[in-house]
Amino acid sequence: MAKLHPPGAPVAVLTTQPLDRPLDYRAPEGGVQDGAFVEVPLGPRRVLGVVWGDAAGDWPVEKLRPVGRVLDVPPMADAFRAFIERAASYTLTPLPAMLRLGLRSPGLGAEAPGTRRVYARGQGAPDRATAARDKVLAVLRDRPDDLFAASELADLAGVSAGVVKGLVASGAVAERDLPRDADFPALDPDRPGHPLAADQETAADALRDALRGGGYGTTLLRGVTGSGKTEVYLEAVAEALRMGRQALVLLPEIALSAEFLTRVEARFGAKPAEWHSGVTQAERRRTWAKTASGQARLIVGARSALFLPFRDLGLIVVDEEHDTSYKQEDGVLYSARDMAVLRASCEGAQVVLASATPSLESWANAELGKYRRLDLTSRFGEAVLPRLTAVDMRGEEVPGGRWISPTLRTAMQARLARGEQSLIFLNRRGYAPVTLCRACGQQVACHQCDARMVEHRFLKRLMCHQCGETAPMPETCPSCGVAGKLAAVGPGVERMAEEVTALFPEARVAILSSDLFGSARALKAKVEEIASGGADIIVGTQIVAKGHNFPRLTLVGVIDADLGLQGSDLRAAERTFQLMRQVSGRAGRADVPGEALLQTFQPEHPVIRAILAGDEEGFLREEAAQRRAAGVPPYGRMAGIVISDPDAATAFELGNTLARRAEALEEIGAEVYGPAPAPIARIRGRHRVRLLVKAPRQAPIQPALARWVAGVDVPRSCRLSIDIDPQSF
Ligand code: ADP
Ligand code: ZN
Repeated sequence: MAKLHPPGAPVAVLTTQPLDRPLDYRAPEGGVQDGAFVEVPLGPRRVLGVVWGDAAGDWPVEKLRPVGRVLDVPPMADAFRAFIERAASYTLTPLPAMLRLGLRSPGLGAEAPGTRRVYARGQGAPDRATAARDKVLAVLRDRPDDLFAASELADLAGVSAGVVKGLVASGAVAERDLPRDADFPALDPDRPGHPLAADQETAADALRDALRGGGYGTTLLRGVTGSGKTEVYLEAVAEALRMGRQALVLLPEIALSAEFLTRVEARFGAKPAEWHSGVTQAERRRTWAKTASGQARLIVGARSALFLPFRDLGLIVVDEEHDTSYKQEDGVLYSARDMAVLRASCEGAQVVLASATPSLESWANAELGKYRRLDLTSRFGEAVLPRLTAVDMRGEEVPGGRWISPTLRTAMQARLARGEQSLIFLNRRGYAPVTLCRACGQQVACHQCDARMVEHRFLKRLMCHQCGETAPMPETCPSCGVAGKLAAVGPGVERMAEEVTALFPEARVAILSSDLFGSARALKAKVEEIASGGADIIVGTQIVAKGHNFPRLTLVGVIDADLGLQGSDLRAAERTFQLMRQVSGRAGRADVPGEALLQTFQPEHPVIRAILAGDEEGFLREEAAQRRAAGVPPYGRMAGIVISDPDAATAFELGNTLARRAEALEEIGAEVYGPAPAPIARIRGRHRVRLLVKAPRQAPIQPALARWVAGVDVPRSCRLSIDIDPQSF
């Protein structure tokens, strides 16, 4: 039960301002509860905060400024506050920065209750067309189902509010009043689902039992693509709903949510609430408030949904738990999978980690008995796993500037003749990875990063994949100035599409690459179009590996299976194994068996052999043995420290100082490696230097890191970030 502070008592308020601790205020008339959302004065401004326990007491009460308005939302639950505190100390993030992730609701508490004005597409036509008006109408055409808050529509279109008003007057934009707190439609857990297969039933039973048992627990739900994991975890969701608790399902990719929403609706009779970057601010406000009140019972979202104010969270599902996009790589560095487990342990909730190719971390935790493990061993119904074969490129005749082998080409031809779909997979965005000058031999590089510029022919631009900077395709070489000598070297996904079109001019070719779609919604639409047969050949990057269901796809051709195996990253083998299994799993989901052809120059490589053999358990055991011998995660702990500075020497100097003064780490048996140039040595003009810290599994690494870093002076120009459990090491 949250504590009630009497009127006038000193209280601590944690604000979202970048301060390192809560500030003291005086409780308002009528007192205030721990966890209450409040507005407090800070300097000349009023800022949002949360009452966070008793005041430090450095000042007499009469000197304290009073708390301002107490917001009309339920106080932040104790379990949620505990989560924020533990997540902050786990990731070595200041508490206010962590709190801010939980208060991302736009305009939280800014408006009084009542109705809100929203805009949608109207029936009428504009009385006169202008460029600005067209922008507004384009937004509404793109998102026909959405309702927009007043200022949002103008912002999205990049026009002034007056433009929207003009369109409202002419009837082209409809204005509606909605009750601010419209409820989400109720979900009915007792509607009959699909009858489950025997192994599904066993797994669903185990999850229901775990939920009814109460308290925290994590289950690794494993099963090949198409084995029916989603059906199983929806049964766990049903059980949480029956118990009157809330459930959260995290997906790695917003584009996946369309199919999922449809399945939820089929199972429970209504759609769940959504939380991700594609949701309008008006909807997000509503979801935030309804999650806090407990009315929204099922939320589907991206990783940031972990920071919603659940009232009684009973279940978190992390679908495709191995997916690297669960790691947030800027701002607060956290792994949504690990934070899901942390949040669940604070809430007394169950976690389901679902994957066809579990991460080594989760697999090892199941081996150690920390996680329960449930396996679905076959595909649901008649579907069988695709046959995987290596195409040894050393024996294939491929003309220069082409990448599809005769073997793969023949297989594609057969699919085309039968009216089945093929997928050509290459994990490289753009047209070509390298643009080279044939006169001087220089590659075109980003001027502010240690990276090449990648040609994107559709955009007619060069793009840096590190900083996102783009430039028009130059006519002359930026190095030597000679004209007409720039040449594309190597394949990107756009170039593969060109090759496919040349080989099969009669085929309908679709490209799936994240940069070709302006919005998640556009990508979603494309995926749906392809799934319903709108393409014969799909050419795609790794976004196609993420659980999309293409029922007519029977052939997967991997252009370069060796791509991920280069470099020294210890996780490379695991990543490649997962990606190859995921992408080949796209083939043959329905009644037709699938086939995957992996083009490789090293078919005898142990990882390629393991992929072909499909021996996941053996692969994981072997990887685990190597990681254990090296003392790296999940058998040891690691942290990456990245120091960046406009000046390389300054960054190195700080790195060297840290490496020299590592007593705090030595005390816990940790070792420091580096400093060395970071995997990308320069981004946006800042030189980057990395140190890696490796510690025994049980070592208290966070406090040691905090003491270590606090022991040196960081020059003002330097930025230092600590990444617990880095993705690459
Ligand atoms: P996964 O999540 O493991 O990839 P899904 O749950 O998506 O597998 O199931 C694969 C396909 O099989 C889906 O089209 C799903 O609707 C269907 N399916 C799975 N289980 C059942 C069942 N018990 N009854 C009918 N269809 C099922
Ligand atoms: Zn760049």
